[in-house]
Amino acid sequence: MEKQLDPMKDDLPLMANTSHMLVKHYTLDLDVDFKSQIIEGIIVFFFETGSRYRKTSSTDEEGCQSQFDETCKIRASEPCHIPVTDLSACSSTMEYNDFAVCGKGEKDTSDKNGNHSNGEQASGIPSSKNCCDIENHGSTDFLLVLDCCDLSVLKVEEVDVAAVADIEKFARSAKLTDASEELGNLRNQIVHELVTLPADRWKEQLYYYTRCSQAPGCGELLFTTGTWSLEIRKLGICTPRDFPHAIRIWYKTKPEGRSVTWTTDQSGRPCVYTMGSPINNRALFPCQEPPVALSTWQATVRTAARFVVLMSGENSAEPVQLQEGILSWYYYVTMPMPASTFTIAIGCWEEVKQQPFTADVQTNSDFSLPFSQADLRWHEERCGHVEYPCRFQNPAARLQTVIPYRVFAPWCLMENCKELVLQLIPQCLSAAYTTLGTHPFSRLDVLIVPSNFSSLGMASPHIIFLSQSVLPGGQHLCGARLCHEIAHAWFGLAIGARDWTEEWISEGFATYLEDIFWARAQQLSHDEVKGQQELKALLRWRRLRDEVQNSEEELQVLRPNKENTGEVSESGASVVKHGLKAEKIFLQVHYLKGYFLLRSLARAIGEASYLASLRKFVHKFHGQLVLSQDFLYMLLEDIPEQKESGLTVESIFQNWLDTSGMPKPLLEEGETWKECQLVQQVSGEVTKWIQTNQRIRKNSKKKRKQDEVIFQKLLPDQLVLLLESLLEEKTLCPRTLQCLEKTYKLREQDAEVRHRWCELIVKHKYVPGYGDVEKFLREDQAMGVYLYGELMVNEDAKQQELAYKCFAAAQEHMDVSSAKVVAEMLF
Ligand SMILES: [Zn+2]
Repeated sequence: MEKQLDPMKDDLPLMANTSHMLVKHYTLDLDVDFKSQIIEGIIVFFFETGSRYRKTSSTDEEGCQSQFDETCKIRASEPCHIPVTDLSACSSTMEYNDFAVCGKGEKDTSDKNGNHSNGEQASGIPSSKNCCDIENHGSTDFLLVLDCCDLSVLKVEEVDVAAVADIEKFARSAKLTDASEELGNLRNQIVHELVTLPADRWKEQLYYYTRCSQAPGCGELLFTTGTWSLEIRKLGICTPRDFPHAIRIWYKTKPEGRSVTWTTDQSGRPCVYTMGSPINNRALFPCQEPPVALSTWQATVRTAARFVVLMSGENSAEPVQLQEGILSWYYYVTMPMPASTFTIAIGCWEEVKQQPFTADVQTNSDFSLPFSQADLRWHEERCGHVEYPCRFQNPAARLQTVIPYRVFAPWCLMENCKELVLQLIPQCLSAAYTTLGTHPFSRLDVLIVPSNFSSLGMASPHIIFLSQSVLPGGQHLCGARLCHEIAHAWFGLAIGARDWTEEWISEGFATYLEDIFWARAQQLSHDEVKGQQELKALLRWRRLRDEVQNSEEELQVLRPNKENTGEVSESGASVVKHGLKAEKIFLQVHYLKGYFLLRSLARAIGEASYLASLRKFVHKFHGQLVLSQDFLYMLLEDIPEQKESGLTVESIFQNWLDTSGMPKPLLEEGETWKECQLVQQVSGEVTKWIQTNQRIRKNSKKKRKQDEVIFQKLLPDQLVLLLESLLEEKTLCPRTLQCLEKTYKLREQDAEVRHRWCELIVKHKYVPGYGDVEKFLREDQAMGVYLYGELMVNEDAKQQELAYKCFAAAQEHMDVSSAKVVAEMLF
């Protein structure tokens, strides 16, 4: 794992040495300035000593180097499922594992950073001479490595938490266990007591986090920034145990930083938001990126009074006026999550509210809970995660079908959201609850993000971003997408991937559950559900087939690290394979293969018992990080009869997760869904259109001959299939296309349908439709990327001109990956 990192390559480095120091809480204090497009921040970290150092004895003060050597032998990825809680379990299971990951120790990490610093080095003022050149400092000082990129770090200091009034009660109440004895000094002992307070004292904990974050400093710390990291040390301190456990960093973001995008909303007003960049939040605040660093946070954000600050926080913040024209917003979370899930959106958003006389949407009544006696038994089991005020343990939370929700949008999309999003959310939330049980999060904000957002949706704790592309064309696309994002609350957020290369765990589940939730939300009959799901399977199968044919083989593997998945280096650092590859963002291979795997398991096991297993999985693993096998072993254990049929974890790895191309079982399954009635109906319509096209071509001179053909009304997904089938036709005359558009009112359909319509326009150089293509590239940027490529391949001057024109208009606000992919197509 200790291979050289090249930041120009496609792999994403996770540098933080979480095995040495592990962040438990962030206190953020941010000033957001739209004029300069800079966020000025003060961040306070509260640390625990990392897992590798908590069990060592306090007598070996003199030998830090030998301590490093010793810890190197320990395997990096703890075999236990609860990496942060149960340390005794971790260290005991580590013993038998003789897998040595590194053997190079600290020096190696600093060398690498030195190589990367790329002229961007900045140093702590008092000692810049000492720490500018880390490679040569030759000391054995402990280095705290944080993930950080495109930030100007101004100052780093130790926080004197002991100066907080009344705080010593934590230290005094500390039982003199081995752990507290080791902590050595009072400040670290106080932080230790604070971060380990029991869950029912969360309010007190938050209060003291605030107080401590405001405590005076007690000495500046030396620091160096490199391209991907911020390294901090304290002269003479050579173990993580003795390193300050509360530190404060003053920093500024850069306008070009890639964690947030500064843009304008659809009403032309300025805004800034985290757009799910591959580098996550490291250009927004220094942090520990590895998912194992599950932490809580609280944040105070100050900005001009006309802006609304939305954030992944469990409270719906009410702004407080600080001075004329400046409002302050305060958010917090009590459930520890990876720093990458922190999300913020600041803009002139308006809250979309129900009209006073609109009847409440039915949510509670018509659903019968599927929870069986077995489900209830899991409820009584204790949770497996670190302590936090968990909703699964809260009887009132467990009964909440629909959590409180709000919808925010730019002014010009308010009406659209009122009719659509606001109505759909309770139905989708309720359907999710009926399927999986307790909502892991206490509330939800849904925001319609600016048009440069590069995906249809994104889920974060307490907040979902939706693209404006889900709004037009009825409720199907919007509802299905909402269901997908809501499913991420369980799969992706409450249960996270321990290794980010296993993206399929969150995306595969969300795609599979999207269909289940959406069918329930629409209250479809059994037959309707079956039909729609098979139609969807066919569309996804076609998409997967195309992607597998047209993408790099190595990007098609769901578990690229195979048996090494989840491993990190001795320090906790690792790289995420292909994590920075621009084109990967637009591939759906991971969604689709994951979906088909879960679907095939459901078919083997039967949907009802399969869903019961999913609920059990949620109960067992919420609040924790998982690998593929955690789910697969649990599922197969529950269904012993599957062993006879040859379904094993190894065969699933082999057939589905570790290989490129179309999964073998999926090929064998054939195209059974073609018999589905909704699909057959489309086939009939396709035939009619081909005949119509032939007739139009023959009769092109006899004008105005009335067509007798009657076309059937089709569902949005059927329309997608129809247009895709027609895309396979060599020639369609302009009059056929015109007739097609009129028959289905294609311009008013949802973005998935309009995308295929635009492809038809481009393929057949249907000039009257060029306006539709232009509109699509402008308004549906989340989906339009590949349309640029299609405009270029025909080598048609008019089409290329259209592509250049649209790119020129959109480029400035496009995110880096989209712009890069499009530029490669165009130039
Ligand atoms: Zn829990």
